[in-house]
Amino acid sequence: MNAKKNWVGSRHLLRQLRDVMASDGAPSERLDQITHFIAEGMVAEVCSIYVLRRGGKLVLYGTEGLRKDAIFRTQLNVGEGLIGYIAERTRSLALADAQNHPRFAYKPETGEEIFQSLLGVPILRNGRVYGVLAIQSQLARNFAEEEIETLETVAMVLAEMISGGDLPEIEDRDGLDQVIAVHPEILSGSRLNAGIAKGYAVVHGRGAAISQTIAEDTAIEEERLKDALVEMQSSLDTMFEDTRRRYGSGEHLEILDAYRMIADDRGWSRRIGEAVRGGLTAEAAVAKVQNETRARMAAAPNPYIRERLMDLDDLAYRLLQYLMGEGAAIEGDSDLPEEAILVARTIGPAELLDYDRSCLCGLVVDEGSATSHTAIVAKALDIPMICNVRGAISRIEKNDRLLLDGDAAQVHVRPGDELWNSFAESVDIRNRIRAEYVASRDLAAVTEDGEAVSLQINVGLPMELQSLHDSGADGVGLCRTEIPFMISAKFPRMDAQTKLYTEIYDAARGKPVVFRTLDIGGDKLLPYFRPSEDDNPAMGWRALRIALDRPSLLRLQLRALIRAASGRELHVMFPMVSEVAELKAAKLLFEQEFDRARRNHEELPSHTRIGCMLEIPALAFQLPQLLAQVDFLSIGSNDLAQFLFASDRNNPRVADRYDVLSPAMLRFLKTVRYEADKANVPVSLCGEMAGTPIEAMALIGLGFRRLSMPAGSIGAVRVMLRGLNAKELSKFLQGQLGSSNHSLRDLLVDFASQNHIVV
Ligand code: PEP
Ligand code: MG
Repeated sequence: MNAKKNWVGSRHLLRQLRDVMASDGAPSERLDQITHFIAEGMVAEVCSIYVLRRGGKLVLYGTEGLRKDAIFRTQLNVGEGLIGYIAERTRSLALADAQNHPRFAYKPETGEEIFQSLLGVPILRNGRVYGVLAIQSQLARNFAEEEIETLETVAMVLAEMISGGDLPEIEDRDGLDQVIAVHPEILSGSRLNAGIAKGYAVVHGRGAAISQTIAEDTAIEEERLKDALVEMQSSLDTMFEDTRRRYGSGEHLEILDAYRMIADDRGWSRRIGEAVRGGLTAEAAVAKVQNETRARMAAAPNPYIRERLMDLDDLAYRLLQYLMGEGAAIEGDSDLPEEAILVARTIGPAELLDYDRSCLCGLVVDEGSATSHTAIVAKALDIPMICNVRGAISRIEKNDRLLLDGDAAQVHVRPGDELWNSFAESVDIRNRIRAEYVASRDLAAVTEDGEAVSLQINVGLPMELQSLHDSGADGVGLCRTEIPFMISAKFPRMDAQTKLYTEIYDAARGKPVVFRTLDIGGDKLLPYFRPSEDDNPAMGWRALRIALDRPSLLRLQLRALIRAASGRELHVMFPMVSEVAELKAAKLLFEQEFDRARRNHEELPSHTRIGCMLEIPALAFQLPQLLAQVDFLSIGSNDLAQFLFASDRNNPRVADRYDVLSPAMLRFLKTVRYEADKANVPVSLCGEMAGTPIEAMALIGLGFRRLSMPAGSIGAVRVMLRGLNAKELSKFLQGQLGSSNHSLRDLLVDFASQNHIVV
């Protein structure tokens, strides 16, 4: 088994194939020559190539030794006959006595009854079956392992040819270039951005065409492979050490260690090495072994084995990156289908922004988390997204039909027609509702009983400002200035910040914008800042706490904001304020910057308003003192609920455990609103709560008249409030706030339905 193999024949055969492929004969002539050379090289009477077409038919495309008039006429289903059996199992099959195999199916038009032995291998690419390559001999013949590997290597080369569409024309070419596996699958992950989408897969970061499959010089390829393996191994070692130093031991470290062991596994690298010695380039050899892994993965019923195979797949991917250079494994997909769903192992925010937004309708990511920058951009672009879809990159092929259910955190891969059509209906309904909201953008946001409510939007990136106008909102109630910082590779300096804020001002076209100063730390990490080592980052060194300890950061930002405002109204808001003294300290920094601008004769803002976020319950016990210091107040209900209930907003196990519509939260909000009104300080609410119609309804019932929310929610909230009688709701709520219920949600939903309010 481990005897040294002689690969000379394999290399010679590959070179012959390369010459044929480079020639300019008609595809059918080339297939004739290819089958001829394979039969000759493998010392067999027959060589046949079957190509899998949509609908699961394996069609005979070329043959040496069978009757030529069987070409295109001989067709087998996957699973039918020995050829169909090989495709079904995605595994090679060597038989000395083929005709006595229970799966043998006689096809009279081929005249194959005279051939006893058969060696067939699946033609694989990215773990998918593209067809079957088979040789047959008249005599009973026991095929050697080396012969099987040679034929597999040849199949690898043919896969590239087939995927390139380099095939003879036949009538009814329907779907020929879309040769795909047929099984539907459902993959699950975690929800990052709700919504649904239907479209065709565009695979990011994989599937780079390997420009050369057949090696010019095997020795050079062996050397390249060796170097790449060493490089990959040492980077895994570094990663392991860094992780251990930073995070100590734990599951993450075990995973990395398992990776290192697999990468060091002789079996894996030996198989790649043999494919190189068989005549492939290093890249093609890795891809060949990766193909086999993926085919095994699709067939593996045991989840543990599948996990291990996924690790191998990942390593092959990494190795390819070392061989092809950073970024080379990225598929430059400029031609997006009209309805594209992007599938990525990981994708950076900038890469995401490179895709044409008008075609992009969903995002499926193998790794990633809710706080990843990509998730932030996906939210900004309003694209449904799920992450942690383990194996997505290897299970989904370019152009696969996909149904992305962001609400249920699932993606249906290659769904049947029925599901596809019923999903299409849901997508249409959602689009229609959206269109209705857009149409309602000029309607006044006034309740049935005449209470005007100011609707504002939350933004993070300048590109979101268009939705300010599309939604008909009154202004930007919350501009999360940290978001551009989070997706930038380095800390934006003064000029870059001024430019950014100017862009936001310009895009707002005179509508007011509330700039919240940097709210970093906690879950909002900057790539160029060391991650917090706090045990409890949400309650640790973050936001204003960082700003007051490192005043130069905040001063730089305030300076840029004052410059960008030049002549326009400036609204600045400080996040995560815990006590009035902190707010005063922040205001002092603002005043220093303002004086500086005045001394330098810069054009000053026409008017300045300083506000504060109320997200920390303690601050509510200093309301009179606080309200005397600010021009406006904005409640951050996301953080407020997290601190009020001591319940981590990013931990799925507890995030929904308590309800913002609980009597405690609602009473808290009402008190703040009441005190602010009494002090004549405008108060708004800018957490997620404001954008959910039923919750927004409750807020109006509590007396709030300013709400700031994601732009996509404005339409629904406007429609809700136009059907609401605020006074009646207020009365109703007043009677319920003393309740000991977990939540008032059900009662509020009943109220809405009895009063025909659309929530
Ligand atoms: C909030 O906490 O409610 C809020 C609006 O701020 P962020 O979600 O950015 O923390
Ligand atoms: Mg907050």
